[in-house]
Amino acid sequence: MSRSRDGDLREQVAVASQVLALEDHGDLIWGHVSVRDPEGRGVWMKASTWGFEEITPERVLLVGWEGEVLAGEGRRHAEYHIHTEIMRARPDVRSVVHTHAPHAVAFASLDQPVRPISHEGTFFVPPDIARFTKTGDLILTQELGHALAAVLGRRNAALMIHHGIVTAAEDVETAVVGAILLERACWKQLLAMAAGELKSWSSDEEALAKRAHCYPPELVRQAWAYLVRRAQTRRAAS
Ligand SMILES: [Zn+2]
Repeated sequence: MSRSRDGDLREQVAVASQVLALEDHGDLIWGHVSVRDPEGRGVWMKASTWGFEEITPERVLLVGWEGEVLAGEGRRHAEYHIHTEIMRARPDVRSVVHTHAPHAVAFASLDQPVRPISHEGTFFVPPDIARFTKTGDLILTQELGHALAAVLGRRNAALMIHHGIVTAAEDVETAVVGAILLERACWKQLLAMAAGELKSWSSDEEALAKRAHCYPPELVRQAWAYLVRRAQTRRAAS
């Protein structure tokens, strides 16, 4: 593995962390995004003890499948099992995001289905969003990581009650945009539910059509490019 390729992977995780910070996915120093190591050594993810907005390529670690730090300086997150177990279960997944996105956490506690009342919800629904309910505690063991991966199944996201969200995708762009869309879908539904009972939302047919029209891979990449430009502009200004 060349140093430059490792550098590219570190950069991907750093940029993704910056983007998540700007979208208010940060929870002090908690939450993480990972990219699968192409050599199969494990996952590249942010070091713990830093907030999303503080992540530079130097603060990204290569974490092995058993949690060993194989490259980089610093401590790994205790919840690395979220990333390693989803990637073990899903060979197609190359990036996982786990955050404590506030509106998603609040929404999940209502035990209501996600309704596609705006564009964002159609990225996930139908069918209703997957929910991990085994525990609201941290994912500190391989067994819990495995159970979370089983709930996620072939889906692109799950709500983790009393805790946060997880998204999984074949690339970091889609995993991060997915996390942003899920938080926004939950925020808009909370906004509507705070004003009254939901009266209408897209049919399954309309939601599936919107998923194809609003979020094809090309548009997800364009949205990602915008998010990166915005993060870089903020970084340059600070
Ligand atoms: Zn967590």
